[in-house]
Amino acid sequence: MPVAKQVLLALPDQTECKQLAEHVLQPAGYAVAFVHTGGELRRLLRSGKLDLLLLGDFADADSFQLAQDIKTNHPTLPIIFLAQQASQEQLLRGVQLGFVDYLTLPVESEVLLEAASRGLEHKRRWEGWLRRETGRITGPLARRLAELESILQQVNDGVILMDAEHKVLMVNRAFRKAFALGSKDPAGRRLQDVLPNKELQDLLQKPASADARAEMKSPSGRTYNARLSVIQGLGTVISLHDITNLIELDHLRKDFVNTVSHDLRSPLTAILGYVELIERAGPVNPQQAEFIRRVKTSVHTTTELIDDLLDLGRVEVGLIDELAPVDMGAIIEKTIDAFQSQIEYKKLLLKMAPVENLPAVLGSHTQLGQVAANLIGNAIKYTPAGGELRVMLRSEQKQLILHVADTGPGIPLEEQGKIFDRFYRATNALPSIPGTGLGLAIVKTIVENHRGRIWVDSKLGEGSIFTVVLPLAKS
Ligand code: ADP
Repeated sequence: MPVAKQVLLALPDQTECKQLAEHVLQPAGYAVAFVHTGGELRRLLRSGKLDLLLLGDFADADSFQLAQDIKTNHPTLPIIFLAQQASQEQLLRGVQLGFVDYLTLPVESEVLLEAASRGLEHKRRWEGWLRRETGRITGPLARRLAELESILQQVNDGVILMDAEHKVLMVNRAFRKAFALGSKDPAGRRLQDVLPNKELQDLLQKPASADARAEMKSPSGRTYNARLSVIQGLGTVISLHDITNLIELDHLRKDFVNTVSHDLRSPLTAILGYVELIERAGPVNPQQAEFIRRVKTSVHTTTELIDDLLDLGRVEVGLIDELAPVDMGAIIEKTIDAFQSQIEYKKLLLKMAPVENLPAVLGSHTQLGQVAANLIGNAIKYTPAGGELRVMLRSEQKQLILHVADTGPGIPLEEQGKIFDRFYRATNALPSIPGTGLGLAIVKTIVENHRGRIWVDSKLGEGSIFTVVLPLAKS
């Protein structure tokens, strides 16, 4: 028995339909459905998967009009017309509409079966051709897609793609490995059900911006830098970059800096101690006193350099777990207090607007203290005695703005961009003024750690204004 073919017998006369179905089509292995009106026929065509249509004359609809509609929407469906009476005109229209056969009722069984089988063969050829053509057109596209998918699967970075509801669309090999997902396919499930990892969930809640990133540890103990990006119209992507080696290197670097600076500091302290003992051990002549003074200055300069290097090493690590709301006004007041004796010694005129009750910034108290100390310290250090020092702090549009201005020597225009580089000292800085050239590099790193900006406005011979802009804690 042949495989049941879905045949739709669309005939208005029920008795005739039933007879053809029961006595001819069904025994030959066809599954038959009946409709009796044009409306029913359209509905069935829309829902059902049909292989062949036997179309008769309808009382409520023009069968040829119906056939035309059907050909538009189902061009591969073979139609056999069953006419009540043979007519030359109908035959011609049938040919024009592409009917596979035209039969007149009553129809002989063999004739009907032969027509049905020709119709099915016609459909098979049509669809075969269509498949080949579609394959020819979409084949290169499908190959390209497969190539891209394979690249995505092979890259070393983990990638997971989700739709707008965070249901997994695709996950690559590296991501599976990082989170030990095994070979199960998580496609279609929400990420939180597949991977109840808190850091990943927190990252998904972040607004996708350039900074939507987080550091996370995988079950295997490796550390990843995870980035979130939203692709309009597609969904959300999280990519994972393995930074375990970088973190290990960073630990090594920190250990190295700590060890070296400790090992350098101890002999320096010893040198300073013995130099002081020389003076106490007995009278020294003026030349010896001068040598001792020079040794002390050199030791101080080297100690300062080690301290600055250590500070730079520390702030370059970022703001790991020191985040808290910081009252910048209080920091400024404390810094000014600390420098009070130097301000008085150099007879500087300090102008300062009230800095109380300003909104907090989110950050590290220690690091922001270093910003204030370096900027105010520089202003005092570079401004000649009797000069003026202005410190202003205000909040404006979700930002805190600090100005530290002085009437010092200023900075040559072409060097104003370079003074924030490590070890850079402006060409007009007097050699008698001690410095390492690291202070502003430390300041800039800290400000950037706090997502802020820093710049200088300066005129040679008139003075400099350093401006720091920091986002407020609430923003
Ligand atoms: P340093 O230890 O030399 O002060 P910094 O990094 O703090 O290092 O500053 C870099 C250079 O920028 C200084 O050497 C100096 O030439 C210039 N500079 C910084 N602050 C001022 C200032 N207030 N007035 C003039 N020049 C300054």
